[in-house]
Amino acid sequence: MLTRRSLIKTFCALPLVACMPRLGHAQNSVDFPKLKSGYAQRLKKILAAGELPYVDIESSCNSTKLDMDFVAKSMDRLNIGLMALSADIGKGQFKEGVRFDNLSERLLANYPDRFIPVGNGGQAPALTEAPDEFLAAQEAAARTKQIMLLGEFELRHYPSPRQAKRGEMERDVHVPIDGPIGHRVFSLSEKTGVPFQIHYEIEDGLLTPLENMLEQYPKAKLIWCHLAQIRYIERASRYTPAYVDALIKRFQNLYFDTAFGDSGSIYPLSNQRHARVWANDGSLKAEWRDLIVAYPQRFLSALDLGGDRLGRIDEYDQKHRNFVQRLPTKTQHQVAYRSAWSLLFGEEFA
Ligand SMILES: [Zn+2]
Repeated sequence: MLTRRSLIKTFCALPLVACMPRLGHAQNSVDFPKLKSGYAQRLKKILAAGELPYVDIESSCNSTKLDMDFVAKSMDRLNIGLMALSADIGKGQFKEGVRFDNLSERLLANYPDRFIPVGNGGQAPALTEAPDEFLAAQEAAARTKQIMLLGEFELRHYPSPRQAKRGEMERDVHVPIDGPIGHRVFSLSEKTGVPFQIHYEIEDGLLTPLENMLEQYPKAKLIWCHLAQIRYIERASRYTPAYVDALIKRFQNLYFDTAFGDSGSIYPLSNQRHARVWANDGSLKAEWRDLIVAYPQRFLSALDLGGDRLGRIDEYDQKHRNFVQRLPTKTQHQVAYRSAWSLLFGEEFA
């Protein structure tokens, strides 16, 4: 009997190239130096106009529903310098056999001076149901220099606030960081030098496994997304500014992105204000500000736009700028674009 799967297999076995566009493997590698000069021009243009550009290091979307012109125009209007907009492979795409979404290639074809080529969001079903195929495709893209960044890999992820409100509890994900998938991802970054992002809820029991992995893969470049976003404070007694300070000192290739809610943002499942950088009066807590000022090169701007909220880019931009503005001017520039620049290109922005 001819099943869909066997048809695809047969099809792929004949001329190998025939199925490549579908699976998105092995497209052309990207001319990084050329991209870099376009990025620099764009950032400098915004700076010359007296505005602060930033690099959104972590946003994602459903590529089949993306209006890239809208995002590009919004970036111009809001003085957003660059964006790492990754595609999440949805259930529909997954069923069709997609293991690598070449959104980045399409973004660069249209707007090469503003999008950073990035791999796909590591989440269910791709990461959990077909980890080997999915990670092999991400690895191929990293090795052939199609992408500069990997992720965000969702290793421990509670339902997002919007999902919780909609009653969608299926995204309660736990992929052990020190299990086979975690090892493969850390090792991939270490071997290729390509940084990767993780979503990893802050819980006491999860911290030691993370530290062990960082120790085992010292050259892996990890961005731990959502600094100080603690959904349940009673599960996270160890995580403090002093703890993060110690991590930064221990691990030279550990970074944090600053995508978190505003001071009033509440995680519906715990009813707690989960963005812990904020004090009750809405100011940035001094201990978090001091930590960022002490190691600004380890902190990165990020919006965390997603498929269900790209239309709210103005609001997310405003929220993020409200945070950045509370830092000293020099730190603002470091966190906004200099940290991303040195992480991606291995040199200072000049
Ligand atoms: Zn996340």
